[in-house]
Amino acid sequence: MSRKNSDSDKVQAVEVKCPKCEFTQIKYIPKEQIGKCPECGSNMIISEILEEGKSY
Ligand SMILES: [Zn+2]
Repeated sequence: MSRKNSDSDKVQAVEVKCPKCEFTQIKYIPKEQIGKCPECGSNMIISEILEEGKSY
């Protein structure tokens, strides 16, 4: 486990996608793990990096 101290508080919203059934989900890394598809149990992959959610 390697963790950089800089930007450690930053979370990045990513869209993850199941390559098998194309189920998509938004995850906040590194706070949340990408994990597996709740539908079919395949490993999810990052399909898109989303803008960081900023407070209005
Ligand atoms: Zn799936």
